[in-house]
Amino acid sequence: MARFAQRRDQLARAVRRLGADALLVTNFTNVTYLTGFTGDDSYLLVGPQVEVLLSDPRYTQQLGEECPGLELAIRRPSIVMSAWASKVIKQARIARLAVEAASMTLQLRDSLAAELPHVTFMPVTGLVENQRLIKDREEIREIRAAVALAEQAFGVVRAALQPGQTEREIAFELEHQIRRFGGAGCAFPPIVAVGPRAALPHAVPTHGRIGDGDLVLIDWGATARLYRSDLTRVLVTGRISPKLERIYGVVLTAQKQAIAAIRPGVRMSDVDAAARRVIAQAGYGRRFGHGLGHGFGLEIHEAPRLAPHQDQPLRAGMVVTVEPGVYLPQWGGVRIEDDLLVTRDGCEVLSHLPKELPECVWPQL
Ligand code: ZN
Ligand code: ZN
Repeated sequence: MARFAQRRDQLARAVRRLGADALLVTNFTNVTYLTGFTGDDSYLLVGPQVEVLLSDPRYTQQLGEECPGLELAIRRPSIVMSAWASKVIKQARIARLAVEAASMTLQLRDSLAAELPHVTFMPVTGLVENQRLIKDREEIREIRAAVALAEQAFGVVRAALQPGQTEREIAFELEHQIRRFGGAGCAFPPIVAVGPRAALPHAVPTHGRIGDGDLVLIDWGATARLYRSDLTRVLVTGRISPKLERIYGVVLTAQKQAIAAIRPGVRMSDVDAAARRVIAQAGYGRRFGHGLGHGFGLEIHEAPRLAPHQDQPLRAGMVVTVEPGVYLPQWGGVRIEDDLLVTRDGCEVLSHLPKELPECVWPQL
């Protein structure tokens, strides 16, 4: 419990620096991060003088188990959450209330403003998200577990891969195996894309079959308990054409160069550029239409972002994906994605599935 209390203390100091009396945390993922509570529909009011979780009777027992000692304000079923929040804010004598602009709805803001005419609202963004940027030891441990689950599931699915299998069947099987190995489920709906479908960076699995193309791109991840992983591999299920060999080589080189550039102090945009340069020099610059990578943890996409114009420096404790890709309409696409931890003197690649082209030929000899 101590680490959640520490996170709230750190947040309370940030709230004080803003000149606010408290922050109303309405983003449920942020509430989980700050309390350990895994349910939803609950807010947290936190500041130098106040720390209270607002919830409803469905969660009373769970809250007692997951965040013992935390002050609770459980509303009655007859009171709607916005009215309850107003009451708690009034009782805490808050004059300047910071609110999470990225998650608070206009409806909630308007009803709070109507109930609390003397309160000044201060919309803020990224306050809790900034804390979430740097993972602590517990978080890193769970992310490692999420990576291991994804890799174990992939191993089973790969070994059982059949030419007649559909994209959807492979996606279901990944989920099944992640759960069998003890994970909470997929970190996001898996992308399984055969042949030309792989040209869609976010392809939704169809009834297309493995035998319909020379390759299958699989982008999947596991959720261990709360924390996630995110990987992509391309398996060659047919002919290794010169074009596939060339594009695969370009993407893999780009990924390796980006990984080699990762260490604390390096600008995120420079890591993106390290990969983008390789792809552009090979003539595929316009075919790499997304950022190089993203942070992940409680959510599958969170700060930071490895992308052009992201000029902040990397810091030790950040976890990011590195996932360059080249996509050619009608032909297909190649993306290779690994998960990395920024360490004090460089980075650690957390995922270990083979990615050299000969190792990705199915069935592997
Ligand atoms: Zn992915
Ligand atoms: Zn990703």
